[in-house]
Amino acid sequence: MPRNYDIAELKRLDVKHHLPAQQDFKLIEDMGGSRIVTHAEGCYIHDGDGNRILDGMAGLWCVNVGYGREELVEVAAEQMRELPFYNTFFKTVAPPTVLLAQKIAGLTGGKLQHVFFNASGSEANDTVFRMVRQYWKLKGEPKRKVFISRWNAYHGSTVAGVSLGGMKFMHEQGDLPIPGVEHVRQPYWFGEGFGQDPVQFGKECAASIEERILAVGPENVAAFIGEPAQGAGGVIIPPPGYWQEVEAICRKYGILLVADEVICGFGRTGEWFGHQTLGFTPDLVPMAKGLSSGYLPISAVAVSSEIVEVMKTGGDFVHGFTYSGHPVCAAVALRNIEIIEREGLVARTRDDTGPYLAKALARLNDHPLVGETRSLGLLGAVEIVAEPGTNKRWGGTEGNAGPLVRDRCIENGLMVRGIRDTIVMCPPLTISHSQIDDLAAIIRKSLDEAWPALKAI
Ligand SMILES: *Cc1c(COP(=O)(O)O)cnc(C)c1O
Repeated sequence: MPRNYDIAELKRLDVKHHLPAQQDFKLIEDMGGSRIVTHAEGCYIHDGDGNRILDGMAGLWCVNVGYGREELVEVAAEQMRELPFYNTFFKTVAPPTVLLAQKIAGLTGGKLQHVFFNASGSEANDTVFRMVRQYWKLKGEPKRKVFISRWNAYHGSTVAGVSLGGMKFMHEQGDLPIPGVEHVRQPYWFGEGFGQDPVQFGKECAASIEERILAVGPENVAAFIGEPAQGAGGVIIPPPGYWQEVEAICRKYGILLVADEVICGFGRTGEWFGHQTLGFTPDLVPMAKGLSSGYLPISAVAVSSEIVEVMKTGGDFVHGFTYSGHPVCAAVALRNIEIIEREGLVARTRDDTGPYLAKALARLNDHPLVGETRSLGLLGAVEIVAEPGTNKRWGGTEGNAGPLVRDRCIENGLMVRGIRDTIVMCPPLTISHSQIDDLAAIIRKSLDEAWPALKAI
């Protein structure tokens, strides 16, 4: 341990004073406090109890370049000395912020030439929400207010983020969604299209968007928003052709297309952005997480020139955050992108580690608890089933298996997430072949160990 922390005391204080994110406060109390993560290097995190854990989640889908990047520390320190903060409200901007905007515009390419900065993925989606409605108002179509999203989508935890998202259990808290958000079915073949031809299933999911547009009235619909592949919903990778259908529907009705790239961006799927991997062209692209590999909080929205031209007719766009374009975060993000470029991590994910992960997961298909494995670049999932060859769940209901297997994985030295009956992973893009082998071996061992508990449900 780099510092001599009093772990027992930290756990006690954690219970006493600290409220964790997306958690049951009582559960943490009953556990005697959270796991104290003290330090990390490469693809491993270390906790206060002396465990070294392979980080199959890249933190929270974000540490794309891995831990321990000294040059990110240095660039942050340099920028803090020179200019620790300045805002973009006063017709002012810091140098790294401008350069990062240029860099992102180069990576998104095409018509996405403008970038609005925020501090989190949720804020990026709030920016999308407000900008899209303002755009339609300025275009003389003020009735276009409705956003169409998917059930089980994740777009963040602010009021707009939860509303745009499709997590029913999140809607239940805080009386959400706010009006003006419509949800349609998700392209989750294993869960909802099992037994059907996947391409046909994808077409039907896309068609549900058109049906909803017609039900709401195309003149009222502002935008469709979706993650290229759903992350927090359980690494749901749409069938081939789905996004092409969605894009065609959006174009047919003149509706803006928003690709939430907060997870899929920055090499995760084997291209810089998920929409490039899946072959469609959005009008707005919120991004965060891998933008700075989580070293500092920053997010961005790439916006098409057409939208920006319309926004220019409206005077002040009265939106923005204190930390929009934060110079230190921007400097770190810029250097993070340079690392991804210099080490060829995007092509490596596409040509080497992504396919290697797919093969390692495919070898788990012979395990009787595994219903399906799937991956896109270095985003992967294992579906846990009660009967081989089916999508039947343990206990006959959804959601029992994931947490049980996840807990075994963590115990065995691998951090993964259990989402309903799915184990999901999103390791650093720097992960090696032997670390991918370890990851798959730990999942197999953990499935074996969880079996008795699954049978007892
Ligand atoms: C994480 C995530 C968000 C929210 O980002 P925060 O930084 O947690 O606010 C939004 N969209 C997607 C797709 C995400 O995965």
